[in-house]
Amino acid sequence: MAERKYQYDVLYLGSGHGAFNGAMPLAQAGFKLGMIEVDKIGGTCPNRGCNAKISLDMPVKVKDAVDQMQGAGLTGTTKLDWKANYEHEKKVIGALPKAIGAGLESLGIELIHGKGTLVDEHTIAVNGQNYTADKLVIATGAHYHQLDIPGQEYLHNGTDFLDLADQPNRMTIIGGGYIALEFATIAATAGTEVTLMLHHEHALKQFYQPFVEELLADLEAKGVHIMKNVTPSAVTKQADGYQVETNQGNVASDWILDATGRLPNVEGIGLDEVGVEYDAHKGIAVNDHLQTSVPSIYATGDVLDKEVGRLTPTAIYEGMYLTKLFTGATTEPINYPAVPSAVFTSPRIAQVGVTPDQAQAHPDQYDIKEADLSQDWFRLAMRANQGKTLSVFDKQGYLVGMAEVSSEADNAIGSVLPFIEYHIDPEKMNNFITLFPTIESETKHHL
Ligand SMILES: Cc1cc2nc3c(=O)[nH]c(=O)nc-3n(C[C@H](O)[C@H](O)[C@H](O)COP(=O)(O)OP(=O)(O)OC[C@H]3O[C@@H](n4cnc5c(N)ncnc54)[C@H](O)[C@@H]3O)c2cc1C
Repeated sequence: MAERKYQYDVLYLGSGHGAFNGAMPLAQAGFKLGMIEVDKIGGTCPNRGCNAKISLDMPVKVKDAVDQMQGAGLTGTTKLDWKANYEHEKKVIGALPKAIGAGLESLGIELIHGKGTLVDEHTIAVNGQNYTADKLVIATGAHYHQLDIPGQEYLHNGTDFLDLADQPNRMTIIGGGYIALEFATIAATAGTEVTLMLHHEHALKQFYQPFVEELLADLEAKGVHIMKNVTPSAVTKQADGYQVETNQGNVASDWILDATGRLPNVEGIGLDEVGVEYDAHKGIAVNDHLQTSVPSIYATGDVLDKEVGRLTPTAIYEGMYLTKLFTGATTEPINYPAVPSAVFTSPRIAQVGVTPDQAQAHPDQYDIKEADLSQDWFRLAMRANQGKTLSVFDKQGYLVGMAEVSSEADNAIGSVLPFIEYHIDPEKMNNFITLFPTIESETKHHL
């Protein structure tokens, strides 16, 4: 047997979804793999992202449902217990890094703990030791952007929010992205007095704005104070908390979340030294085979400069694509399916495919069908008194996109993905018999 030129066939830098989902089948295919991780195995999503936040959101969703059913089968409201919710979240996610690590090691994947830095096109150094591989995959993810203002040391990031054991009375959230709005929803539902500072007139710019306005109105109804066109200039410590100074006046607070965005982890990992092209804000440049400017180095996940969303499912898809590429199962360029996205607020917003904005801009190509869900009998049974769906069809009548605002928007959008991705003939859509009565059946009914 020929002697191995490198220690590994593939060496991953990072152990998040962009790495571990693809690494598992690659190891099963007989590849020798290493994976370098400086923090918790599993990366952002299991440890300080999706899993943690959806765990915190569970009682929010249940409380909303209970509140809605008052006088319609339920009496007695519920109260969100911040500390118990925090403890439950920690229980849910606490075992994940160990479980994921054990799963990787059981397949023979060697886990290397420490910060990795590229040395050359086949080598990564960790703690002064070099590890070599035929191919390297950079999957270093992203980190929180931090406002560069006086008093920035008093600001907290999204990971701190997920680690916040004690409920603040007053919280200021700076930012208008999905993390800002989701965390505002959780805090406000628990009874914290929340001020949300939007840098512009609008929030969630990638979502259909009339839906976002409904969401903001709902947050205001929950007591959130929303400020628009705000530029924070400093944070100062006060006798009873902190003060955020802005162009619109000062806001007193006990705890301040800086949710001004996330940036790809491209600094300090040797990209310049090895000649991997990247943009500090957009991420690592790759070709349509996820290959960087250095042929033996590939990249996946949040660190990529990509058009599709920086989401767990896109990171997984990219990792799985590389597995197919490395095993020879494909030589084709990566071809993303329709990528759904959601904001887990209450109500939720979700969308997939051609957006209402794109459809409205091209009436020669698309038709839009609107459904007012507040009058839908199933939603009336749930007493979900708000909700709208916009379904986008091409001129041949095929469903090509959908956007929804409602308490079940995530499930509704999830239920139409096969129709859009597989370009199901409008006639054939009728061949899908859904369970009845469900969100799925009601969503299909409105198409
Ligand atoms: C609060 C929050 C909520 C989110 N909610 C959702 C959601 O609801 N749905 C969804 O789809 N997505 C969500 N996301 C996004 C999702 O978490 C990311 O898209 C996904 O985790 C990206 O995976 P990744 O493997 O690219 O990066 P990561 O999971 O970030 O993994 C990168 C890993 O690389 C490690 N690393 C970095 N540099 C080095 C180095 N030099 N040496 C060694 N290790 C290194 C890091 O420690 C990290 O563990 C959320 C993110 C956040 C922050």
